[in-house]
Amino acid sequence: MTQPASKPVAPALPGYWKAYGGIKALLKSPFPYLAAVVTGLCYPFWMKDGWWNLVTTVLPCILGFTIAAFTLVLGLGGDVFRRQLHRPNSRTGVPLYLKISAIFAHQIIVQTLAVVFAIVLAGVWMWPAPDSDPWAEINHWALQVSWGLGFFLFVYSVLLVFAGALNIFTLAKMIQRAALKESRTKTCPHCREEINPEATKCKHCGSRLPDEAKQPASA
Ligand SMILES: [Zn+2]
Repeated sequence: MTQPASKPVAPALPGYWKAYGGIKALLKSPFPYLAAVVTGLCYPFWMKDGWWNLVTTVLPCILGFTIAAFTLVLGLGGDVFRRQLHRPNSRTGVPLYLKISAIFAHQIIVQTLAVVFAIVLAGVWMWPAPDSDPWAEINHWALQVSWGLGFFLFVYSVLLVFAGALNIFTLAKMIQRAALKESRTKTCPHCREEINPEATKCKHCGSRLPDEAKQPASA
């Protein structure tokens, strides 16, 4: 029997990762490197237990705002802008709509992972630690690595908010450009593509267009 609850999530994950641009996009972004530097600088902070309290108080708020921004952005802009959003990119083939959604999905996934990881680390810390070697030594290193990784995820999550803000600003510029274009063009009544307001024939579908300038409305 299939599990209906897990079904929609599994195919969406590779799709998100592909639309995001995969490992290439991750390595090209300055934020993982910046997060690594900040994590290194904060070593004394996350080497003391309890650092996860910062994560569990700060991140859920940010996460809520990210999801709200995501839903809001998907409803922005006029007709021309929306059509632009769904057109496949000439280079990557990924429509901007999917790309933007993937950037937001990335933010939401990383933020959620950071919170869950911090909670798990806080929970694991409460178990009694082994006191005999080699387990005490292994535990010491596992703790350093996992706490470092947990704090890195936290810093990266916060930095992604900055990336998200830039993302929204890019969108705002596109919406503004599209709005300007929208005021200069009209839509073909047959195929709904943008055409020059002076055109007598649609360049997309070839339909003859009613000449509004010459024909009186009553004709
Ligand atoms: Zn047309």
